Amino acid sequence: MKQGLLIDMDGVIYSGEELINGADNFIKNLIDKDIPFAFMTNNSQRTSLEVVRKLKRLSITVETKHVYTSAMATGKFLGDQSPNGTAYVLGEGGLLTSLHENGITLVDSDPEFVVLGEGRNFTLEMVQRAVDMILAGAKFITTNRDPSPKKPGWNNLGIAATTAMIEEATGRKAFVTGKPSPVMMRSARKFLGLETAETTVIGDTMETDIQGGVQMGYKTILVLSGIASKDTLSNYAFKPDMIASSVDKISFPLKWW
Ligand SMILES: [Mg+2]
Repeated sequence: MKQGLLIDMDGVIYSGEELINGADNFIKNLIDKDIPFAFMTNNSQRTSLEVVRKLKRLSITVETKHVYTSAMATGKFLGDQSPNGTAYVLGEGGLLTSLHENGITLVDSDPEFVVLGEGRNFTLEMVQRAVDMILAGAKFITTNRDPSPKKPGWNNLGIAATTAMIEEATGRKAFVTGKPSPVMMRSARKFLGLETAETTVIGDTMETDIQGGVQMGYKTILVLSGIASKDTLSNYAFKPDMIASSVDKISFPLKWW
């Protein structure tokens, strides 16, 4: 049986603009050993080519076939739900590209969907327009519900905050397509051509990577190089199959391979 990996990026491979120690060797080793993998990121801002370029700056050389974003999952989901559908988008390049590629037309009035992603380019005026559209019947989709990092100087608000703003203004709950939603957890596995029993998730966040993996029946590895800390693990009703201080401490074959 082949075995492959879905790997979170922020807190696992890099932290902001800095490479996490040994992550470059870890990825090189996967390529050398021919182990199938894809980066699975909730950030819907970048296209996969932009992700490849960012990784390249951090001395990690991969191809677009190694990248799966919540923007890609959202585009595929909406394309399946409503072929030739329409959407009003609060988001940036990665999301716009993916919706377009999946046959969704971007419009400024009467959309079937309002789609929210990461970004700093949309205004409160656009948010208000989106609220009106949802109140008039548009379906509200958010690419993920990642919390604010709550650190000064961070590069974004955290999409949980912008989602909450629109939920409050409309009284409607967003449908989430990114991790831990099975929409993305499943389509990322299929993107890699793996079966459930062949899939292992590596991530730094219990609420997204690990919970998403556990719910899908994938194996999970929590790394402690990002958000999660060992002291708080007992607060969760689920646990990862393995814990490593960082990716360079993971050796192959994994014990369940
Ligand atoms: Mg992460």
